[in-house]
Amino acid sequence: MCDKKEKYYITTAIAYTSKKPHIGNTYEAIFTDAIARYKRMQGYDVFFMTGTDEHGQKIQELAEKAKISPKQYVDNIAGEIKSIWDLVGTSYDKFIRTTDNYHEETVKKIFKKLYEQGDIYKGFYEGWYCTPCESFFTETQLVDNKCPDCGRDVIYSKEEAYFLKLSKYQDRLLKYIEENPDFVRPESRKKEIINNFIKPGLQDLCVSRSSFTWGIPVDFDPKHVTYVWIDALSNYITGLGYTFDNKGKNYLKYWPADLHVIGKDILRFHMIYWPIMLMALGEPLPKHIYAHGWMLFGQDKMSKSRGNVIYADDLVKLFGVDATRFYSLSEMPFAQDGSITYESFISRYNSELANTLGNLVNRTVAMCNKYFEGIVINKNIVQDVDKQLIALAKTSVENYNKKMEELKVQEAIHEIWELVRRSNKYIDETMPWVLAKDETKQDRLNTVLYNLIETIRIIAVMLAPIMPATSENIFKQINSDEKTLDSINTFGKYASNTKVQKASPLFERIDEVKKLEEIEKSKEVETVEKEQEKTNLISIDELDKVKLNVGKILEARRVEGTNKLYCLTIDLGTEKRTIVSGLVPYYTEEELINKKVIVVTNLKPAKLRGIDSNGMLLAAGDGDIVKLITVDGDVELGAKVH
Ligand SMILES: [Zn+2]
Repeated sequence: MCDKKEKYYITTAIAYTSKKPHIGNTYEAIFTDAIARYKRMQGYDVFFMTGTDEHGQKIQELAEKAKISPKQYVDNIAGEIKSIWDLVGTSYDKFIRTTDNYHEETVKKIFKKLYEQGDIYKGFYEGWYCTPCESFFTETQLVDNKCPDCGRDVIYSKEEAYFLKLSKYQDRLLKYIEENPDFVRPESRKKEIINNFIKPGLQDLCVSRSSFTWGIPVDFDPKHVTYVWIDALSNYITGLGYTFDNKGKNYLKYWPADLHVIGKDILRFHMIYWPIMLMALGEPLPKHIYAHGWMLFGQDKMSKSRGNVIYADDLVKLFGVDATRFYSLSEMPFAQDGSITYESFISRYNSELANTLGNLVNRTVAMCNKYFEGIVINKNIVQDVDKQLIALAKTSVENYNKKMEELKVQEAIHEIWELVRRSNKYIDETMPWVLAKDETKQDRLNTVLYNLIETIRIIAVMLAPIMPATSENIFKQINSDEKTLDSINTFGKYASNTKVQKASPLFERIDEVKKLEEIEKSKEVETVEKEQEKTNLISIDELDKVKLNVGKILEARRVEGTNKLYCLTIDLGTEKRTIVSGLVPYYTEEELINKKVIVVTNLKPAKLRGIDSNGMLLAAGDGDIVKLITVDGDVELGAKVH
């Protein structure tokens, strides 16, 4: 705890604006937010910065594909990222974008200064280039002739380029890392980088590109743009108003950063390039860097091509903001990978949020209302069981503080739930409903309820950085303003004689089967929408490209695990086709058999639920009524529709 307002500067890595971030990316914002909120509670003057990394070849290419300008492209995605960060309650003080003018201007100056003082020099780069990673590799660095970082194809290229003299600073960097054992966590990753990258000898880093234009131009040689990492890393100081002429009030106050929170894949850049840039600029180095692990889907990495991407806004829609924060924070162990599945989300929601925490608060507040019209008074009729509860509250608070300090948020949450469970047990042990029936036990009953309400208050304080809205909701129900971290070091700060509010459930229980169905349905809608998008690609001009033929439905069977799809066998006269179609809500199997329908026969095959669907049936309508387009009379199977 600090007496006068000490500063604490905390950052996330800035998010790359190539696509909408999934829950794994969003985790970083939630985690950093929890630490920032905790530090504010400790009394620090916190500056929390996050933002977006918006330059590079990959973005230029994506924008070209989307037929919009790169700026429009990044405006869209940056807007989306910011709204997701806001949705999950990220309490940042500044959201920086690397296309912000002040950032671009300062990066130009940084590049120029390093060039003028001889830390950046001009040379040639020849080697294997990976476009998505925007990195050059030597022949020996390639893995099976592919990019060692992402496994994609590389192209051979030679370009004139600028280089940053990493080698010059190697010994100073190593010395700094050795003298500051807390500089990088976790220890294992730090060692890996020291042994694999620093000790074998740092190669000078290519810091400009001339093969594309979407970047910050080199001030004195504008056919080159600044390497995206030099641009991106600078955000940590440009966002504080750092320039050369005037370092800015925030820079002088908040730099060096107290903590950079980053993903484990970008530790190398933060542990090597960033400190060396700062050394070259003559500025102090950040105090701590923490590299967190991945959020996996089950056991797999989340990726669009695997179709297992989960977005934070979907989770919020399904479960709410605080449950999403709780789940992602408590599923990620310190510096290791965590895992998300809908099944485990629902099960933990029901057991830990609705049952364990929700019931404790709800039961207790309801009993206060039922037995004493809401008035909570400490009558001090103490028994041994109270001492146990109070002792555990004390230990929980101590452990919680220690874990939060060590960035072990998952373990801090575990400490809170120990106390929640113990409190539920305290209710079973003291049996307030029995005390209530005995006129002589009213003071004891008062004491028991006071102890419970005070413990709930302590829990609400500890929950504040994790689930801010739930914490507030609890404070409202128990009608207390004692919210400081200091206030939970002593048991008994809840003001005796306070009247609690009406009890209202914190979390409604979820029906697992229904919820999973809802999730399944939203996925099917997505598939159907994608199919529709594909058909939209055919314009009127291209109508004659579309081959339409008459076919007869021979067989229809439900596709397992969905409530929409049939697998149909269609006779086209000369051949039979399998087509998967979302007709279950509109036709029974019997109704479909023998119908003569119109089939798009030259549609690109698609895999739906593991079945190769080869063609599409024409139908009309949407919503509740969908009807197949059918053909009357004796038309030959396979006949062309014109
Ligand atoms: Zn790559």
